[in-house]
Amino acid sequence: MPARRHSWAEPWKIKMVEPIRMLTQAERSVAIRDAGYNTFLLRSDDVYIDLLTDSGTSAMSDHQWAGLMVGDEAYAGSRSFYHLCDAVADVYGYPELVPTHQGRGAEHILSQILITPGDVVPGNMYFTTTKFHQELAGGRFVDVIIDEAHQPHVAHPFKGNIDLGKLAAVVDEVGADRIPYVSFETNVNMAGGQPVSMANLREVYEFCHERGILVMLDATRALENAYFIQQRETGYRDHSIRRILSEICSYSDGATVSSKKDNLVNIGGFLALRDPELARRARAMLVAFEGLHTYGGMAGRDMEALARGIREMVDTDDHVRTRVGQVEYLGNQIRDAGVPIVEPVGGHGVFLDASGICDHLPPQQLRAQALAAAIYEDAGVRAMERGVVSAGRDPVTGDHHYPKLELVRLTVPRRVYTQSHMDVTAESVISVYERRTEVPGLRFTYEPESLRFFQARFEPVN
Ligand SMILES: *Cc1c(COP(=O)(O)O)cnc(C)c1O
Repeated sequence: MPARRHSWAEPWKIKMVEPIRMLTQAERSVAIRDAGYNTFLLRSDDVYIDLLTDSGTSAMSDHQWAGLMVGDEAYAGSRSFYHLCDAVADVYGYPELVPTHQGRGAEHILSQILITPGDVVPGNMYFTTTKFHQELAGGRFVDVIIDEAHQPHVAHPFKGNIDLGKLAAVVDEVGADRIPYVSFETNVNMAGGQPVSMANLREVYEFCHERGILVMLDATRALENAYFIQQRETGYRDHSIRRILSEICSYSDGATVSSKKDNLVNIGGFLALRDPELARRARAMLVAFEGLHTYGGMAGRDMEALARGIREMVDTDDHVRTRVGQVEYLGNQIRDAGVPIVEPVGGHGVFLDASGICDHLPPQQLRAQALAAAIYEDAGVRAMERGVVSAGRDPVTGDHHYPKLELVRLTVPRRVYTQSHMDVTAESVISVYERRTEVPGLRFTYEPESLRFFQARFEPVN
């Protein structure tokens, strides 16, 4: 037998490095205590491997950095804006581009131009900012994702799919004229980076069009979704990622995108549309909330780097294969050691099942928060809690929400860390798992009223 080969070795080499420092065990214990056992409150200088988020943390290529130098800072009609329009039209296939400062800027504009108070917006699981803007515009979000999305140990190749039966029931209940659009997210973030199938995209689009309902994608992670379609859906093995991505977008009327993810830049986003009249209304709002229609919230150089990032992400299939392959590599090591995780491993991170790991603690002792703190203390890897603390309290009863999934997320930035960093991360998680009964529970010492996970502070229960 030949030695096992790594099929996804990085399709780049390193030209510049940023030193990182590893604290001692004693220093880490002080750092996490000073941060109130909340990984959001750690200083990045105290972190060895930062897996808090993959948002805006990508490494740009030399070609993108060169783009910063030739960005056109003209207030109106910037050359870089036209480069961005061309890239979005070529890669995603939308003719109308409305640039914004990041994803939520695009969600805000889209919600304001399409939603009338009292409307209902069905979607496949919520995303925090997307749902917030739909509600701000007077809409009500209804979850129509398939049931499997909520079951961490059920293996389904397309856990992000919309349940057509649930969608039809919503249409029957409120009427198509109260549904401005279906909010369809690719590679569903809150479900753990789980994809939707092409067949589902096509069916939902046909269903909606027969009834005069628009389909708006959250295409923030559509590239990673395209990869899963290539790997898992019959008939797509020989299609390039570029072609699959443009087919995904063909089953929609427009999309919002946070460019801080797939697009390989640190800031930026856009709303893309087919209908010129809708685009006209979006641009009219843009001037008030983001900036002129040829820069939105971005500098000319940011648009130049973004235009290049969009082309680069589909230039070869190797980029996304490596990106998702690295996440799978980490997930497989952790799972093979017996640590319970959400399956299958998603596109952007590995989600540890904290209720399974810390079952010596009662849920009130915030298992996921406690596990994330213990992982940092072990080797300086920063993860994020996605459980009781993130879920907040019920506004009526005042009790904690206890979500079905109590998770710790290890999110992998794009093109930033090597395979050795993944090995260190896996070793650390496994070692904490082996000593899991020693992980102390936590209780709040400070609890902010809203979005409490960002700034809450805790102490060990003993
Ligand atoms: C990050 C993200 C957003 C929000 O984008 P921002 O750039 O952070 O405003 C929306 N949808 C999805 C799926 C995301 O991952």
